[in-house]
Formats: sequence, C-alpha cells, structure tokens
Amino acid sequence: MSEEKDVNCQEFKLEPDCELRFEVESKNEKVVLELKSGMAEVFGTELVKGKGYVFTTGAKIAVFTWQGCVIELRGKTDVSYVAKETPVVMYLNAHAALEQLRKKAETDNSRGPVTMIVGPMDVGKSTLCRLLLNYAVRMGRRPIFVDLDVGQGQISIPGTIGALLVERPAAVEEGFSQQAPLVYHYGHRTPSTNLALYNMLVSRLAEVIAERMQANRKANASGVIINTCGWVKGDGYKHLTHVAQAFEVDIILVLDQERLYNELVRDMPTFVKVVFLPKSGGVVERSQSARADARDARVREYFYGLRTPLYPHSFDVRFSDTKIYKIGAPALPDSCMPLGMKAEDNLTKLVAVTPGPNLLHHILSVSFAASIEEDVIQTNVAGFVCVTNVDMEQQSITILSPQPRPLPKTLLLLSDVQFMDSH
Ligand code: ATP
Repeated sequence: MSEEKDVNCQEFKLEPDCELRFEVESKNEKVVLELKSGMAEVFGTELVKGKGYVFTTGAKIAVFTWQGCVIELRGKTDVSYVAKETPVVMYLNAHAALEQLRKKAETDNSRGPVTMIVGPMDVGKSTLCRLLLNYAVRMGRRPIFVDLDVGQGQISIPGTIGALLVERPAAVEEGFSQQAPLVYHYGHRTPSTNLALYNMLVSRLAEVIAERMQANRKANASGVIINTCGWVKGDGYKHLTHVAQAFEVDIILVLDQERLYNELVRDMPTFVKVVFLPKSGGVVERSQSARADARDARVREYFYGLRTPLYPHSFDVRFSDTKIYKIGAPALPDSCMPLGMKAEDNLTKLVAVTPGPNLLHHILSVSFAASIEEDVIQTNVAGFVCVTNVDMEQQSITILSPQPRPLPKTLLLLSDVQFMDSH
C-alpha cells in the first residue's frame, strides 16, 4: 500500500512564471494537489498551502506561479509536466487594462468594461473568462459573468445561457458558486440548431443585465465578461456580431485565430477595441466523446452535487398534471405561413408537447412563467427536472427533481439535452 503511494506521489519545483500542467484521464481516478511552499494559483484562484485539492477523471489543470513554489501531486496523472512558456503575463496585462477602465467607470459613475471572449473551439475561452473574473474579484470588484456557450458552459447545465454576479473567486475544484444564476432555456447543444431563438435569448439576457447593472453601482463599474461558443465561421460569425451588438461590448478578446481577429477589426465600430491574444499551449483539445462526457457531468453535478453530495427526489407525475411545451415548430417555407408572418417566427413559437415515450431521459426546464399568457420564451427558469421513466399504461412520468413533490404548478420546457440517470 505504502509502496503504491510512493509511486504515485510526485513533487515539482516550479520557477517563477512557470506552470505545472496535468490531466486525470483514467476512470474513477483521483489526484490530490497540494502546495507545499511558495505561492501558486489555478486559473486565477490562489491555492492555500497544505490543503489537498482533489481532481477527478476529466480534469485538465494548470497550476501557475508568479513567485515560484513546490507542488505535490498524489495519485495517477496521465500527463504531468512543467511549462516555462505561458501567455499568462499577456492575460494579466489584459486584466490590468480592464482594471483601468473599471477605475475610470467608478470615478465617473459610468458602466465598466463589457468584454467578450471569442475564438474557435478549444482555445481556452472559458479558462480566460475564469482567470479575468478571478483577478477582478480579487481586486474587490463584482463583475458579471455571462456564459453563452450552450454546449460547454460554466453556468447551469447544457442547453441554457445564463449570467451570475461573481462575488468570490472560483473554487479550485468546483468553479464559480452557482448561487442564484439568471438562466434562460434554449434547449439545444449548439446555437446553430435554432439561431433565431438563440439570438432572441441573447438580446433578452443583455437587456436584463443592463437593467441589473443600473441598479447595482458596484457591478456596473466592474463590468461584464462574456464567454461565447467556438462557432466562428459563416452564421457563427454573424451570431458573434449579434452578441457584440446586444451587449454593446467595449472590448473583444480574440483567442488564437487571426482571421477572426481581422474580420472583427473590419466589421466592428471603431469604439469597440478588438485585441488578439495567443492561446496557451496547455489547452487540451477535447474529442466529441469528451465533450459529451463533460455535458453529462454537468447535469449529474446539478442533480447529485460534486464535492457536497445532493440527494434529488424521484416521483411520478400524471400526464394530466403537467404542462409541457417546446420552443420552435418545424420551419415552413414563407409561402405556407399565415399572412404577415415569416418562417423564422415559427422557430420562436411555443408548441404544446403531448407526453409520451418521446420524453424519456430528456431534461425539462421549470419556467418561472405560470401560464402561456406570459412571455414564456423570454422568462428565465427556476431549475430542471429529468424524465427517468414514461408509463403509458398509468399515463404518468417519473421525474428526478432537486425539489420534493409536488412539481411546481408552472410550465415545463422540453430540452434536446438528455441525461441517463445511472444512480
Ligand atoms: P470550448 O470551445 O469547448 O468552449 P474553450 O475554448 O472554452 O473550449 P477551455 O474550456 O477553456 O476551452 O479549455 C479546454 C480545456 O483545457 C479545459 O479542460 C481546461 O481546463 C484545459 N486548460 C486550459 N488551459 C490550460 C492550461 N494552461 N494547462 C492545462 N490545461 C488547460
């Protein structure tokens, strides 16, 4: 036993400005990270000396040090190496520039910098957001984090877009605290599935955030950091320009792709500052299956928790007691639409769903809207349930829910996102 422990215990001495990168890939593996001496941070969150941080399968981590440090890793890592070349200093410069704008906004009582981070897939967009938010909050700021990445986002679960007020640095293992996020149901894993709906929700979220910033002086001066999807070509590019317009962004940080950078410099109004930043050599490309696993893990975490276990409820609901809708009817050619309506209008229409086997394993968003008289599509959601069984004989579904029965008397919105409950 002690022999095995020795084999899997590695110590790394890091020079200033270096980072230790490691990955945990094997199934059911756990790796404990401990800072033995010096100072170090994980994506902008400072490590506490002597504390064991536990990482599980799928983790891809970088521990960066400004001053130098000694780190111990216990457990089986699939990759672990120290890198001397990192773009962290450039990221810190970007933070310093944002901080100047926040100071100015504070003095003038105006809006702080609204920054959007763009780039193709797997260039470290989410990681850069986390770093900038952590640095801001460590300076006493209260920035708003907007995550528009419906596939691999850090807020809520896949198939949604959302925002949170960041009040403390992200937890090293779990990320940002998910207390009271503002979440909208989109229902698909990529914006391209229903771009009309996606754009509508982005505009709505931007509107609500602008209102909230008006009411919170500190958040207003701290600004917004927006994470986007890695869909950057064709319609993907257009969707990015829509985000920029809706949020009235001041700064766009473009990771890795010069072509995208040049297109944005060409198309954005001159008051929008477009900045190119290199990607970190540590960012790991994820396969389709790794992406699917990551989506699954987020839903599992929603129901069952990560470090602190959660105990969801499971109960039956009769078909007659549910009101399930989906957003978007199949698109018809314009010529088949009623007078005055465009084919696009169909994509943002509420359609009643007849309960049946089609619901099995699907996520349903619990809307804050109580009836279809309200603007259901543009109303945020309270949470999610998952359909774990459909009983046609009993005309009922079994659902997994963070709340005990009964199901709230509100509308449920059907998502494409599925989750197989293996507990
Ligand atoms: P997506 O297009 O899927 O949204 P992304 O561009 O947002 O991807 P990230 O999610 O930030 O990319 O990074 C991809 C993976 O690489 C993550 O698992 C992240 O933890 C890891 N990663 C990022 N930076 C580093 C680094 N410097 N060293 C090691 N791993 C890293």
